[in-house]
Formats: sequence, structure tokens, C-alpha cells
Amino acid sequence: MKIVAVDPILLRGEQTYVATQGGEEAVDNGDWQLIVKITTDSGLVGWGDIETLASAAAAIIGGPGMSILGFKALGDLLIGEDPTDTTRIWNKLYIGSAYYGRRGIAIQCMSAIDNALWSIKAQAAGKPLAALLGGRKRDRIRAYASTLFRATPAGMRDAAKGYMDKGFTAVKFGWGVFGEDEGRDRELVAAARETLGPDRLLMVDPGWYPVGWAKPERWSPRTRDQALRLCNWLAEYKVYWVEDFIHPEHFDVYAAVRKESPVKLAAGEQVATTWEFERFIGCGAVDVIQPDLTRCGGLTVALEVARMAEKAGIQLVTHSWLTHLLTGHSLQFLSTLKEAPLVEFNVSQSALTGGIAKAPFKLDAEGFLAIPDTVDIGVTVDEKFVQAHRVN
Ligand SMILES: [Mg+2]
Repeated sequence: MKIVAVDPILLRGEQTYVATQGGEEAVDNGDWQLIVKITTDSGLVGWGDIETLASAAAAIIGGPGMSILGFKALGDLLIGEDPTDTTRIWNKLYIGSAYYGRRGIAIQCMSAIDNALWSIKAQAAGKPLAALLGGRKRDRIRAYASTLFRATPAGMRDAAKGYMDKGFTAVKFGWGVFGEDEGRDRELVAAARETLGPDRLLMVDPGWYPVGWAKPERWSPRTRDQALRLCNWLAEYKVYWVEDFIHPEHFDVYAAVRKESPVKLAAGEQVATTWEFERFIGCGAVDVIQPDLTRCGGLTVALEVARMAEKAGIQLVTHSWLTHLLTGHSLQFLSTLKEAPLVEFNVSQSALTGGIAKAPFKLDAEGFLAIPDTVDIGVTVDEKFVQAHRVN
């Protein structure tokens, strides 16, 4: 089997990212989204979604690349390759893009490509993806509703109640106005906790550049003392974890704060490649590692991260706030882990991110998502929708 086409598909939507005031739902990236379609000579097709600057990513995949090694377009490097040879391909793409890549947008593109290749492998084997990743160890996972902070306590109460009504037993609020005013932050978290009751899980994602993030002149990451102070007061509201709230290059600050924090630290969505995860986990930065399959380097890297997490005795909960493709790949991966306490479920999908792929995801009476047990990931790209929104 050989790869015959690599198509970066740039999609345009009509909504913009917004953290709402009241109970109404927040909106994720509703204006642009890139997906990649990989086609083989056998007719099998793999899809991946990419959380990145979509317009630039389309060029990194679709080219034109340059003749010198390190400056290649990813698509050119894939044509003619055997799609099942995922590790070899990962290394080829890394070297081929090394001069402009190694992190950021190039790795994000490589992640989507890697996930799409794993999908093709699963289809070729006629099995659910989990079977190729080590075999499933569970049929369902507890899902948490993942959304943005509302700007008022009343909005937080309405939103929290809405997720409970939908059957969620765990909710994460992130970003929005959080970090602008500590008094209001406390009111928002208190409103969420009060509504959710003492036993449902509440997670907080304060953002890592949030100190008045609407005012660029005040953008600055938290100091170690500010981060610890935040953990201490979040503990008063029985917050299950605090997420991604320290400058992503400051591994040492994570490790120092974790030593004293009464709340679990979760992070890793900014981390990419096995080398970086080794350093991040190795220095004791977090209690919960959160690789994002569309950013970390894809499933090939995530499999290594799972081994590291198990060895370090920490939890792994993938970051997955994008289309159902990412949720589908994440569910298959999480189903194979020894321990998988939660899966992140994006309740804030825009018309664009929500329309790209269809999936049978439904919460059961206990707030768990069933893991599809069909060939590949059990998610279908809506090609009509994709054609209607394509701009490149
Ligand atoms: Mg986050």
C-alpha cells in the first residue's frame, strides 16, 4: 500500500471564538479549521484535524517545499510511502521539516498526519484503532464537559446546571475573564462549585497568560508565588485539577508549585515530541499529563507518553477540544491505558468544528462515553459539509 495523495483542506466558518457572558454556550475556533485527508492506492483514506494557524499549515503540508533537506513540504515527503510505516514516516517528516519545524506548527501538522496514518492502519487491519494501540481495556470513559468561563456568577450557575442536565458528572471551565480580577474569579468558581454540588468534579483552566489578558500591556505569566496562591484558594472550592496555568517553558516553576500545591497540577497540551515530554514529566512538573493528539506529534508520540506517565505514576488525560476526529482518536487511545479517569469532551464546538465529522457519542446515565468498537475510530467525516466550507 502506498500514499498517493495528501490534501490539506482549509475550511472557513462564520463564527468567532467567544467566551460568553451568561449561560449560553461558548464557541471554539469557528472561523478557520484545517483538516488533512490522506489517500492510498488501495482506496483507504485517513483523516486528521489540526489545531494550529490553519492558513500557514495548509502551505506546510501542501507546499511547494524547497529542494534542500529541512525545508520540505510534508505532503511531498509522504507520497509513495507505505502508510503503515508510522515510526519511519514520523522521523522522515521531522528531519524533512527540521529547519523550520521541530515544534509548533510543523509538529501540529505532523500530528494530524500521524493520526490519519494510524486510522489507515486500523482500516487495513479491519480493526478498531485501539486494537493496534495495544488493545482496549475498557468500554467506556467518564467524560467531562469542557468549556470557557462565563463572565458572571449567574452565567456560571446556568452553564453548570446545563451540563448536569445533559448528564455530565465533571466540568472544566477555562480562560474567558478568569485572571482579570481575583475577587470575581472566586465568585465564578464558587458559583460553579455551589451548582455542581460537593461530589461532581470541577476543573479550572486559568490560562497561562491571563493577568488581564484582554489588555496586552498586562500580559505576563504568573510568578511561582502567584501560581501557588491560586492553587491554594482553588483548593477551598475542591477543584480537582488546575490546568496549564504557568508559562509553558517554565518547567521548573511547575515542579516547584506542584510540591506545595493542595490541588493536582495538569498540563502538557503545549508540550510536543517525546524529548520534551521526557523533560516535562521527568522534572516532576505535573500530576496529570495532557498530551493533545493534534499537537504532541500524534499517536506515535502519545504511545511513548503513556509509557512515561505509567512509569512516573501520574495520570494521563488527553487534551481534546476540537472536532470529533480528535475525540475519536483520543477515545481509542485512552481505552488502551491501564488507568483512564476522564476524557475531555468539547461542548463548545462551533458550527464549523461540529459539522466536520459525525460521531455516535452519547453519555450514559452515569456520565460515561461509550468507546466505539467499530473499524478505525467510529467517526465519519461529512464530505458534503467539508466541500461546502472549503476555501483552498
Ligand atoms: Mg487547556
